[in-house]
Formats: sequence, C-alpha cells, structure tokens
Amino acid sequence: MKKNEIINLEITDISSDGNGVGKYEGMAVFVPETCTGDIIEAKIVKVLKSYAYGIVSKLLSPSPYRIQSRCPVFPKCGGCSLRHISYECELKVKDNIVRSCFKRIGKLEPEFEDILGCEETKGYRNKAQYPVADSGGQAVCGFYAKRSHRIIPYIPCGLLPKEFHNITDFIIDYINKNNIKGYNETEHKGLLRHIYLRKGFSTGEIMVCLIVTRKSEKLTPLADQIMKKFKDVKSVVMNINPDRTNVILGKKTTVLSGKGYITDVMCGNKIRLSPESFYQVNSVQAQKLYKIAEEYAGFKGDEHLLDLYCGTGTIGLSMARSVKKLTGVEIISQAVKNAKENARENGICNAEFICSDAGKAAKLLAESGEKPDVIILDPPRKGCDNVTLDSVLKMSPQKIIMISCNPATAARDCKYLCENGYITVKARGVDLFPRTGHVECVVLMSRDKG
Ligand code: SAH
Repeated sequence: MKKNEIINLEITDISSDGNGVGKYEGMAVFVPETCTGDIIEAKIVKVLKSYAYGIVSKLLSPSPYRIQSRCPVFPKCGGCSLRHISYECELKVKDNIVRSCFKRIGKLEPEFEDILGCEETKGYRNKAQYPVADSGGQAVCGFYAKRSHRIIPYIPCGLLPKEFHNITDFIIDYINKNNIKGYNETEHKGLLRHIYLRKGFSTGEIMVCLIVTRKSEKLTPLADQIMKKFKDVKSVVMNINPDRTNVILGKKTTVLSGKGYITDVMCGNKIRLSPESFYQVNSVQAQKLYKIAEEYAGFKGDEHLLDLYCGTGTIGLSMARSVKKLTGVEIISQAVKNAKENARENGICNAEFICSDAGKAAKLLAESGEKPDVIILDPPRKGCDNVTLDSVLKMSPQKIIMISCNPATAARDCKYLCENGYITVKARGVDLFPRTGHVECVVLMSRDKG
C-alpha cells in the first residue's frame, strides 16, 4: 500500500477514537467518520508499519448504522467523534471497547453486563470550558478543532444546556463592546483565556468562572450584569492563570459576585461545588453509575468503606448511610473542603476526608493496620500508581470496586490486583459521554478465597 493509492474497503469495526477500521491485504486501515458496514473508496494518506490511514474519497454503499449529523461543526470540532452513527451503534462500539480492554489488556474475563446507555444524549453536560481568543482585535469563543488550538467559533454546542449559549454570547458581546481582549496564545497577551460554566442539574444553579491572565477590575461590572440578567447564576468568580500552559485553571480564584460555589443534589445529598473541584460532567448518568457501584458493594451496614480519589465525596457520601464508617481521600484541597462541608450539610457523621495523594494516604492507612472492608478506586484517566495498588493489596479488603473513565488503564490496574489475590467478578460499561469517544466502566473484584 502506498500513499495516495485509491483502494476499495469494507469497514468492519470502529476504534475507540471513532475511526472506522477495515482490512486491506492484511493491514488495518483507519478511516475517520466511517462506520461498520460502510463500503468505501478510500484514499490512503499515511502508511505505517502495520497500519495505514485513509480518507473517504467515495462512499460506495453506506452502512445502515449511519445517520446524518445535525451538528454544523462535526467533524471539525474536537468534542464529538461519533455523531455519524446511531446512538444504538455507538453503545455497541463502547460496550465492545470495555469488553476488549479487559480481555486484551487485562487478560480478564469477568461476567459482563450490557452497557448502560443514556436516556438523554443531548444537553447532558453540566460543564463547559470555552477557550477565548483574540482574532484581529475581536474576542472569539468556541471549541478547539481536533488535535489543534484553532478555535471554531461556535457556541450552541448540542451537548450543553441552552443557558450556557446565552451566557457565553453575553460575555463575549460585553468584552468586545468594552475593548477587553481575548487571549493570544502565541504572544501570551490579552485578558480573558476561558469561560468556564457549570450547572447543577437538580437545582438549576449556574456558576460562571472567568479565567484571566492577570488580576483585573475590568470584569467586576460584567459579573454584576451577569447576575442581574441570568437569575440562575449564583456565583461569578475570576480565576487567575498567568502561565504559558495548556492547563486551564490557575491557582488563585476570587469571588466577583455571589457565593463562590454552587450546590447540586446527587443521590439525595446536597453537593457543594467549587470551581476547582471535580464533578462528573453527566450528573444524571453518574447517579446511575454510583448506584451500580453500591449494588456491587452489597453493604450489610457494618463495613468500613475507603473511597480513594473521592473528589467532593459524591460516591462515598451516597453510600455513607449504608456503612459504619467512610474514609475519603482526594488530592485537591478545595474538593476535600467541599467533601467535609457536604458531609456536614447532609448530617453524615461517620465520614472523614483526607487531603493527600491517594498512594501516600493508602500506604499510611495500610501501615497503621487499617482494614477497610470495601475500597472504591475512581482514579483519573492515567489510572492508579503501584504504591496505591500495593497498599490496597496490603489492606486486603473483601471487595474492590474500580470505577474509571479509561477502560484501558482500569483493565491494566485490575490485572495487577488479580495477579495478587483478587478475581474480577463483574464489569459493566456505563456511557456518561454520548457522541464522544469516551466511556466509563465499573468493575467488581473480590478477594480470591482459593
Ligand atoms: N470520585 C469522584 C472523583 C473522581 S475523578 C467523583 O466521582 O466525583 C478523580 C479524582 O481524583 C479527582 O477529584 C482528582 O482531583 C483526584 N486525583 C487525581 N490525582 C490524585 C492523586 N494522586 N491522589 C488523590 N486524588 C487524585
């Protein structure tokens, strides 16, 4: 196969990043925006050792799973990768990703339950971080194009609540009228870098966080106007990020107007959210995920539950009334502060929260002889480190529940635990991110009796 060669190809699968895959002379060919069942004429654009990339030059016979995307910026925008297929097909793809990670990477064969899909695939995200840039003196805002920092100036994203569009439009209009500059990444100049919005779906409360390069008084009148115009906005804060970096939030946040946080309700608990705290972006589906985790845990009431990577405590607090004692561990101090407030606010007295790296805290707990009955692990995409896993093994809980937004690292970490005395009992994919290539999974491991 050579670059620029035209080949006929049947797409037989979809990879985790949303590319269709077909086989040609024994080699895998990845073609974006195609779908299992498509027969295409592909132009080869890149050839590597064992695989190649192509683009569609002609769609010879479309797959029955294909749908017309209604988003005007798909597939240029980097947010979604599966808008060209039906949601039913997307769920099959994601179910398959979870199963194959555990089989291929984990060499594990738990009993799989079918993936849990979302009832609502539109407007489900409770959080948006819109980059703002300077374009010839005017601020523009939207989303990054795939694998780039070029902004596609499009605000009404179909994954977000409608109020977000109106608020963002209002902010951009204000800063352009008042000659406030959007960020120029190349020259590291300008004021407004990002508009970060978050909504509590149960309460309707909205937080606006304006991320700026330096402290400025210029945004204070804007904050007051936002609060006046949008009644659901309960907090406008300014976060200062002076660095040349891709990290969105800086270290310092000040309140411009309102209470500095918003509240949501999750699994019956009031949850206080600061801008720095992690919160699942799909809170409706996250509650179903936490319920599955609770079912997997099957608490009797006398257990000690350790919730590692606990964020604002949402998972542990949703189970606190079913256990004797809850310990949560989280590295972001604002999130730990929220977790403690959340326990207090909901009258939960059997919970303690530790602000620490998960590995360090787990090691200390193990060394002090703590023996939690159930440990929940909900790490970020990179998964757990070995200190954490070894300490979990040392504490030797009856059950371990792994929750992860990256099935590949989850499978790797479960493999390690299963090489050291555990068996994977059950696993299930849960779709928290319709139309994107991401999928969550939940796994139950149990101490191997033999
Ligand atoms: N369980 C929470 C949060 C899960 S996201 C929920 O469902 O809402 C992962 C969390 O791990 C984030 O809150 C992140 O801040 C935290 N985290 C990342 N690295 C960590 C580390 N090394 N030690 C402890 N917590 C960490």
